[in-house]
Amino acid sequence: MILDASEKKTPVYPPVNLSEALISLGNLRHNARQIKAQIGQSRRLMAIVKANAYGHNAGKVAPALVQEGVSDFGVANINEAIHLRKALQAAQAREDSQILAFASPLECQMPFYLQHEIDLTVTNFETAKLAEAVSKNHGKNLTVHLKIDTGMGRLGIQPREGFALARYVEASPYLNLKGIYTHFSDSGEDLAFTRNQLEIYKKLVSEFEHEAKRTVLKHAANSGAIISDNDTYLDMVRPGILLYGYTPAKSLTTALDLRRVMQFQAHVLFTKWVEKGATVSYGRRWIATRRTRVATVSVGYADGYHRALSNKAKVCINGNLYEQIGSVTMDQIMVSLGEDSSVQVGDPVVLFGWDGLGANDLAEQIGTIGYELLCAVSPRVKRVFID
Ligand SMILES: *Cc1c(COP(=O)(O)O)cnc(C)c1O
Repeated sequence: MILDASEKKTPVYPPVNLSEALISLGNLRHNARQIKAQIGQSRRLMAIVKANAYGHNAGKVAPALVQEGVSDFGVANINEAIHLRKALQAAQAREDSQILAFASPLECQMPFYLQHEIDLTVTNFETAKLAEAVSKNHGKNLTVHLKIDTGMGRLGIQPREGFALARYVEASPYLNLKGIYTHFSDSGEDLAFTRNQLEIYKKLVSEFEHEAKRTVLKHAANSGAIISDNDTYLDMVRPGILLYGYTPAKSLTTALDLRRVMQFQAHVLFTKWVEKGATVSYGRRWIATRRTRVATVSVGYADGYHRALSNKAKVCINGNLYEQIGSVTMDQIMVSLGEDSSVQVGDPVVLFGWDGLGANDLAEQIGTIGYELLCAVSPRVKRVFID
């Protein structure tokens, strides 16, 4: 990371990334192949790239997945969908990519679904009727997926009304009903609850398909379901966190060979020796119990390294783990090197990634999940794509 002295060109400011997230598109594609092998060739994989691909950059992640034959993408809302559509076009990725936005749409957003050919989630009769009006006005049908709430309690129609809504959308001349989906509330621990959600969903959809005399695209499985229950796979699966190399929680294991896609790292900026009794950082929450060498590292909570990690995390420098000490500050953390004198200014410090701890290991320390740590890596952190 240190500039080569022989470099003649004027360095672009800033010359060195103080903190960076290496993104291995090779590892991402490997994970996609693992999931595809698990679900079999007859099923589709909808790659979930919401929240800028869990912090990995959807504009780079989606085209890399297109190379693996993925043509279905799921995002949180219409804004993300438009951004993704444009990124796929700019990358000249396949033109038949299908994008579904999960959020229940607001009326003012609906024309954008038509304009950018984004699939819309219908969650109740009101959305269905608003969508119909917009389609009618524009002389072009919206493509919709119906969302059934089988136990997640977030978005979707209750199962008892789901059949009537499906029938309504099917009969509408202004809406194309493409899929019916549901979402599991359990990440793979309570298999019985997931099973119950699945049964409610399957009963409703099979009754509808029987009456409509046709099939719809059926999808339900998130990462937790993919690793815990093959019966949830249906026509298409919707993995998010597995693509990025993690199971939904540290306690959940899988036979899939997952590789971490992000390595979040910073650099040693400064080192010093502190004497026994000295304190480090705001609030003096760490006191040296002996003479200790301390490194100051270029990452803080403004980069997405949560302040809750103060005095709880470990970092990896040159293959060795060291304790993070004292409060995490906005721009820096301090690390105890003990008696170690090998660590030098400029050395990379791995916060999580393939050369260090996993995001789930750190998350567990502060009562959260790896998803949150991945998404938290802030825009200040330069994404560097490697293959
Ligand atoms: C986020 C999300 C997923 C993916 O969840 P993971 O646990 O990351 O696999 C799938 N479906 C919906 C509707 C989601 O919101």
